[in-house]
Amino acid sequence: MQPSVKCIVNTCTHYLYGDRCGAGNIDIMHEEETKMSEIVEQTMCKTFSHARNLLSYVGSADNVNWTGSAIGLLNPDYQVTPTIACTVASCKYWGEGAICIAEGIEVTGANSNECQDTNCQTFVRRDGA
Ligand code: SF4
Ligand code: SF4
Repeated sequence: MQPSVKCIVNTCTHYLYGDRCGAGNIDIMHEEETKMSEIVEQTMCKTFSHARNLLSYVGSADNVNWTGSAIGLLNPDYQVTPTIACTVASCKYWGEGAICIAEGIEVTGANSNECQDTNCQTFVRRDGA
């Protein structure tokens, strides 16, 4: 089963009230491409696009879960779940093929201005350090 996604990044075009994400897929990545994340703050949701930027919304329109978003707008309890592609292999929930094996993840970074301000709060270092 794919993990549920809770997100509080209210400045993102994909944000749906009720702390849900209306994107079709989200990419969770290391903030710095060449550096393995060791703490939550070094991860990010790369799919973040700022709601104030109309062009970014148009640009991300092909990555919208339209059906889920439409039902989600009408029903605050409806679970809208994007697929997750994650490259954070240093996380204990990471699985071969860029999948996340956690039951659910939480994306944080309220009032974020750019994707680097967001985090996968569910990240836990694989080696437990
Ligand atoms: S920051 Fe990521 S998880 Fe949150 S609403 Fe935007 S695309 Fe979805
Ligand atoms: S919990 Fe770990 S594997 Fe899952 S999306 Fe977050 S960083 Fe990636």
